[in-house]
Amino acid sequence: MGTALVTGASAGLGLEFAWQLATARHDVVLVARDEQRLTRLASQLEAAAGVRAEVLAADLTDRGDLERVAARLRSDERPVGLLVNNAGMGLNQSFVDGDLAAEERALDLMVRAVMVLSHEAAGAMRARGRGAILNVGSVAGLIATGTYSAHKAWVRVFTEALSVELKGTGVTATVVAPGFTRTEFHERGRIDTAHYPEVGWLDAEDVVAAALADVRRGVVLSTPSLRYKAVSALLRLAPRSAVRAFGGYRRALPDGAQAQTDES
Ligand code: NAP
Repeated sequence: MGTALVTGASAGLGLEFAWQLATARHDVVLVARDEQRLTRLASQLEAAAGVRAEVLAADLTDRGDLERVAARLRSDERPVGLLVNNAGMGLNQSFVDGDLAAEERALDLMVRAVMVLSHEAAGAMRARGRGAILNVGSVAGLIATGTYSAHKAWVRVFTEALSVELKGTGVTATVVAPGFTRTEFHERGRIDTAHYPEVGWLDAEDVVAAALADVRRGVVLSTPSLRYKAVSALLRLAPRSAVRAFGGYRRALPDGAQAQTDES
């Protein structure tokens, strides 16, 4: 896979992707807004794993910044062989009463940036005849709980369509759909996790290991853990009316996807 570019590498799953990829001897390009955290991480990765770690500080909701990341994907110097579209955020608000500008930022980050970077990476990788794109979706993409669910459903269907288009080119597309995972996600999104069942929590280390193993095998839909494989299978089989009813229970939502109604 050569060099891997990871968005949202300063924390949570992205930080774990950076460590596991560097440990597997991949050079890495680290993308997020917090340049200090990225620079510290780059030094740690270089010292611990002996790889080259580039820092590319960027706000992916800013079109100029996004273009700088896209340009890195087009570059033939230390070409990027794996793109991990991981950066994301929780939006703890109702759609109808909430701030539309915040909605637009979330859409730009979890949909537009994923589309733009996948486009650049897919073109460059296909020209080289090899590469992989890994998009981070969510189990929340299978339910109907606010725009977060809609964004993650888009990521899933988009990645499946991309994998079909790339068939036979040497380039693969994978979407990983984690359930609740211990990261900074819930705290940053001011999401109360007190009522989340303990059994529902996954470790970032396990999620990332499963996702990377699936990328190596060319799997399109990756769901880490048996628990969430079962939950996802149930959600796919259940009538959508039942899935929508479940979406009314804000406290039961994977990774804080926000319901439009709260029974409390
Ligand atoms: P996290 O710990 O909060 O990390 C989010 C990362 O995204 C940070 O590195 C953050 O870095 C970066 N980021 C946020 N806004 C950005 C922006 N505008 N431009 C560039 N980077 C930005 O969350 P996480 O749980 O690791 O989330 C990673 C992915 O997993 C997301 O796509 C999330 O939707 C998905 N997911 C999470 C869970 C869960 O339960 N944790 C479950 C399913 C799916 P900076 O602040 O430095 O920019």
